[in-house]
Amino acid sequence: MSIQTTNPATNKVVKSFDEMTDKQVQDAIALSDKTYNEWKNTSFEQRATLLHKVAKIMRDRKTELATLITLEMGKIISQSEGEIDLSANILDYYADNGASFLADTKLNPESGEAFIRNSPIGVLFGVMPWNFPFYQVVRFAAPNIMVGNTILLKHASIVPQCAIAIEKIFLEAGAAEGLYTNLMISGKRSSALISDNRIKGVSLTGSEAAGASVAEAAGRNLKKSVLELGGSDAFIVLEDADIDKAVEMAIVGRMNNNGESCVASKRFIAVAAIADEFLDKFSKKVAALKVGDPMDPETQVGPLSSEDALLNILDQVKRFEKAGATVLVGGKRASDIGAYMQPTILTNLKRGEPTFYEELFGPVASFYKVKDEQEAIELANDTPFGLGGSIYTKDIKRAIKIADQIDTGMVFINQPTSTSPDLPFGGTKGSGYGRELSELGITEFVNKKLIRVT
Ligand code: NDP
Repeated sequence: MSIQTTNPATNKVVKSFDEMTDKQVQDAIALSDKTYNEWKNTSFEQRATLLHKVAKIMRDRKTELATLITLEMGKIISQSEGEIDLSANILDYYADNGASFLADTKLNPESGEAFIRNSPIGVLFGVMPWNFPFYQVVRFAAPNIMVGNTILLKHASIVPQCAIAIEKIFLEAGAAEGLYTNLMISGKRSSALISDNRIKGVSLTGSEAAGASVAEAAGRNLKKSVLELGGSDAFIVLEDADIDKAVEMAIVGRMNNNGESCVASKRFIAVAAIADEFLDKFSKKVAALKVGDPMDPETQVGPLSSEDALLNILDQVKRFEKAGATVLVGGKRASDIGAYMQPTILTNLKRGEPTFYEELFGPVASFYKVKDEQEAIELANDTPFGLGGSIYTKDIKRAIKIADQIDTGMVFINQPTSTSPDLPFGGTKGSGYGRELSELGITEFVNKKLIRVT
């Protein structure tokens, strides 16, 4: 059974689910298309009312939903609760601001009148990962429901109960059947759906391999796609940074979500003048982190999302060591039971080694001491990824100049890359293309229709 809840804190299978048959999938697509033809004629007020109701139900059931997240993918419970709050805030934000983001844009032609109307395009297919099972879905679904599109959602196979809960909440909030549909199918069956004429666009968050498969199918079928893939964000500490603050931010940046985040700070780059001090303080804090039961409020780092995820990162650490890296802190499995990894710091990684270019999706930081700012920028850009990154300094003008030279979709100054309902999110290079959230995200799947009056 490929679709099941396995609690990563115990590695015990909790519940299994049957995949949908091809006929059930076809029926779901047909219903989504039918509902689209009604939903596209609703007012922004009607759409906003629905999203506010969904937000309210999520807030009212925060404890229950957060527990489900923690059960299925191991996030520590306070962060699961934070994810539900963030998701509800996103729903409210697009309910409140969607209409103004989508308002007509008046043009100034040489004669007559013209404007651009943001029209919906139809059924959208979302393929989402397990690491933020509510947030990733909502940041795609909420703006697009405001647009007037309908959603077919294929969630990661390890979070089926979160996937079912989200669909139920939409229905309970009064959504028409077919407005938001959970497709219980495996990743393998996903890309084939993109050729269906009724599906007009696809958005995927996940690995490069899954992204390439979806993008290939979308390209072949001339459909719009948005991809949010991995990242290997640099965390650059300059000589005038507040080192204690930077260390605090480094822990948040690397260990949030048990390290399983595309925008986690992964490569820590410090200039020579402060590198030893930073590493000394950072390694002491990493070694002192409390790893354990994600339901225990004292726990700082829970299990990885699955035994496979743990084995994968342990294997990476071994291969990095073989390629010359040193394990300064951690590096091992943290418990015989459950998918627990010791928080880890690697040093002495060699540029040019294939391992240097891999993403570390877990509580494993890599550290680099560099001569100066220029070398920090070169190192930061020496990656196939281009998602986020952060710079630590008291000189904001200098930080903005450096940000200009970093090849990523987002650069944060004096805090790790993060997300909020009102800011765009997305990357360049191997991290994908397109944006989610903000005015940019809400207009990814619209027809910018020119209407000309003479
Ligand atoms: P995947 O990319 O395999 O999974 C993400 C989603 O894509 C899931 O819904 C998955 O379905 C689906 N999927 C998988 N293969 C295909 C395919 N060929 N066509 C269409 N959809 C597909 O991520 P993993 O869970 O395997 O994690 C592996 C790595 O991916 C991580 O180590 C990390 O590097 C990266 N990742 C990045 C994330 C991000 O936030 N950017 C989130 C998660 C992972 P199913 O679960 O059924 O296989």
